[in-house]
Amino acid sequence: MPHQNILQKLGLRQVINVSGTMTVIGASSARPEAVAAIADILPRFVEIDELQRAAGRMIAKACGAEAGFVTACTAAAITLAVAAAMTGVDRAAIARLPDAAGLKNEVVILAGHLISYGAPVDQAIRLAGAKVVPVGQATSVAEYELEAAFTPQTAAAVYVVSHHTAQSGMIGLGRFAEIAHAKGVPVIIDAAAEYDLKGFLRDGADLALYSAHKFLRGATAGIVAGRRDLVQAAYLQNHGIGRGMKVGKEGIVSTIVALETWEQADHAAQRRREQELLDLWQKTLANRAGVSAVAIPDPTGNPVDRLRLTVLPEQAGTTAWDLVTALAAGTPSIVVRAEFLELGCFELDPCNLGRDEAEIVAQRLVRVLDDARAGKQAMSAFADWRSAEEKEIWQA
Ligand SMILES: *Cc1c(COP(=O)(O)O)cnc(C)c1O
Repeated sequence: MPHQNILQKLGLRQVINVSGTMTVIGASSARPEAVAAIADILPRFVEIDELQRAAGRMIAKACGAEAGFVTACTAAAITLAVAAAMTGVDRAAIARLPDAAGLKNEVVILAGHLISYGAPVDQAIRLAGAKVVPVGQATSVAEYELEAAFTPQTAAAVYVVSHHTAQSGMIGLGRFAEIAHAKGVPVIIDAAAEYDLKGFLRDGADLALYSAHKFLRGATAGIVAGRRDLVQAAYLQNHGIGRGMKVGKEGIVSTIVALETWEQADHAAQRRREQELLDLWQKTLANRAGVSAVAIPDPTGNPVDRLRLTVLPEQAGTTAWDLVTALAAGTPSIVVRAEFLELGCFELDPCNLGRDEAEIVAQRLVRVLDDARAGKQAMSAFADWRSAEEKEIWQA
């Protein structure tokens, strides 16, 4: 019997990830340094508070923060950060949550920031026992609306930075924080997938929250960074509602190592490698009828470009939906970034794969498009009628 990897042993299909860092397919390919650190610590005992202090030192350095700790994921971090703003270090209040009686419990958030990352962000807030106060409209908000949303009961203001949010008509973080701080309210920023580890705290956030399993390529974990008193209050939630969101020693240690490696990494070289993959795919698709491929920058300014493919069904003989479905159905399964499917587009993200896998993606694109042109692939007549839920399975 030749050596089998864990996917083969379990009878699972190999996935090539051209979607970015998506939870539903395992988020990211963990760095070898993180994998080694996990193997090293898993058989050992360690005082978790000590390990968290070491993580706190690394987070403080990497994020330019007073303090920090590691939790299960960003979704957990949102709940713990909101709870911290409500209870402070009052151990009795921490034990009473999610019963918020007697506590400030309103959390202000722009309506355009009420996104889903696979679950609604407002639910992560409500889990702490807080009440969500949306401000403005889905696509617009005025400063007077934000100012009027604060009451004596406001505990925190949550700000989301993501390609999922409304990308215009919102209030910038700097101004948002000024208004919140004028009301004496701390700002919590969900920056789960953002590469900028220092800028949001510098621009006025009191707590910044990141996923360790996205661009940092650690194991699944979340980073809480920021004001010392709030970090301490958030950490104490581990003796309350945070217990069910516990991170293990492997998550903490891999976050430390992922941050260290990130600090030392040659980001320009990574960018060049990614550009080579985009060039390969673009060259592969050049002069193909019905498919255009254009490199586009990340919408929130992360240093990553993606190749956006637009499919014209009449000429290509297939739709974006059918193309994406065919790529995912093959072996290995190829999962693309499929946010704009009903608009006839999808994207290839180069940040999570090597040259070999990129070549497979190129070959499969050619095969699937050739099959479509030859009429070998069924084309669904009502592609744009497919449900939002069906689309959501591609992108959480
Ligand atoms: C991924 C993501 C989350 C959830 O992060 P997890 O660490 O997987 O819980 C929250 N907010 C945004 C904006 C995200 O992109």
